[in-house]
Amino acid sequence: MASFATDVKNEIARLPRGEDCCARAELAALLRMGATITLGRDHTFGLEYQVENAAVARRTLVLLREVHAGLPAEVTVARNRRLRKKNSYAIAIPPSSSTTELLEELGFLQGGSLNIEGDAKVLRSACCRAAYLRGAFLGGGSVNRPEADYHLELVTGSYSFGKLLRTLMRRLDFPVGFVDRKESYVIYLKEGDAVVDFLAIIGAEEAVEAFEVARNVKEVREQVNRIVNCETANLQKAIDAAGRQLDDIQYIEEHLGLEALSKREQEAAQVRLENPESNLAELAALIHLSKPALAHRMKKLHDLAEMLRQKEE
Ligand SMILES: [Zn+2]
Repeated sequence: MASFATDVKNEIARLPRGEDCCARAELAALLRMGATITLGRDHTFGLEYQVENAAVARRTLVLLREVHAGLPAEVTVARNRRLRKKNSYAIAIPPSSSTTELLEELGFLQGGSLNIEGDAKVLRSACCRAAYLRGAFLGGGSVNRPEADYHLELVTGSYSFGKLLRTLMRRLDFPVGFVDRKESYVIYLKEGDAVVDFLAIIGAEEAVEAFEVARNVKEVREQVNRIVNCETANLQKAIDAAGRQLDDIQYIEEHLGLEALSKREQEAAQVRLENPESNLAELAALIHLSKPALAHRMKKLHDLAEMLRQKEE
């Protein structure tokens, strides 16, 4: 069974790529999540990128072609022989002057040297931020399925890129957490609204819908639980009250005898003895009495029992 995160990636990998600036931003973030820059002769640079998800590999190739046509990208599939391990796709673009141009365009190189500090250049336009986050999710994102605890994360091996993502998400008002996990850096969201907003921003509409359905189910379940708890509490109260009344009546029977009671009190005692599990309203209905009237008789029985108990001491 594919994970929910894979479903989300498959969904957003099919989206139209958007404006040129946005395609560049998405590709930049995707590659920043895990691509390696290789060195060639004559100060040229190349690129290697390994991904597990076929849709993400395809998306990467499409974006590469759109951002910089004519790059000689090679894809090799590494079949994983181990059980349940997925294949992975290695995209390699050999070092060349046009690859170097691409890297300049994406902001990875500045004046011939590596720029690890950030992508201010590709993030100049507001429209690109969504595309950038989509790229980051495609490259290293994960999200729990909607029925589980809310959790969405972006994992990168680069501290400075992790910080950049955190800054960007903070600017978009996301309550983002940041943690160092075994040489990788995790930017995460833990609140339901934030997770759904993030998925909406990156264009994962089907995922957003799945969250809304699950949230409704959760709310209904909570409501049902509240009602059941409330009914259980009421039931317990009725059982406790009936138990006290039975104690009183038995005490009177043993220490005074029920025949000493008035006709009305006898009637009340009798109906309780015959229906030990009924609540007061049910008992009152059985002897065609109002509930307050029966409650009054029970109170008198209780007072009498208490009096007898005191005398006994
Ligand atoms: Zn844009």
